[in-house]
Amino acid sequence: MPGKLLEEFVIPARYGRGFVVEKGQVLRIAQVEGGQVGDCAFFNADDPKETFHCGQSWAINVTAGTGTSKAFKYFYSKPPRENVMLTVLEDTYPNHWGNMGGRCSTRLYEIRDNLPPGSHRSCQENLREAVEPFGLTGDDVMDVFNVFMNVDLFTDGSFKILPTEVGPDDHIDLRAEMNVLAAVSACPADTSPTNNFRSAPLAIRIFEG
Ligand SMILES: [Zn+2]
Repeated sequence: MPGKLLEEFVIPARYGRGFVVEKGQVLRIAQVEGGQVGDCAFFNADDPKETFHCGQSWAINVTAGTGTSKAFKYFYSKPPRENVMLTVLEDTYPNHWGNMGGRCSTRLYEIRDNLPPGSHRSCQENLREAVEPFGLTGDDVMDVFNVFMNVDLFTDGSFKILPTEVGPDDHIDLRAEMNVLAAVSACPADTSPTNNFRSAPLAIRIFEG
């Protein structure tokens, strides 16, 4: 169990927020209503060139036997550093989309749903807004971890997005192994099964280690 609750807030549906989790503290990303996916970017708060790398995290965890694309224990930064940024302490819904690094964006809504550019909020926009107060830009948002996202990956290399089955009491607890700048988007996708065709809030809690 994590220690004392230090901070707690809700990220409203369709929006994002950036915040710092100090080394040793535990970040809990939790459901409010259930059924909601989050897109999470992680930076070394002291040197934001060092970011979470989805592919390398998938590769190293599978190689080391510490996880799969659906759930892994260690969140690694991109090469050449390959440091553990976050360690999973508890994961009550171990079914994420941990091998892609992508997110919904203006281009994706345009191609998939024929929506004109700028007419629908996106995780890319949310994450840009979340990191801007920390002096970063949309270009700095590298890979994201699609927490709680339910996707079938097929042997021909294709995939299918399924409705997430995450419940209202589910959460993931991540211990920061360095000072981490986290940006979390409550994915605004309401035109796909991702969030069960609607968008809901996410709760953030930060605990003492
Ligand atoms: Zn999204």
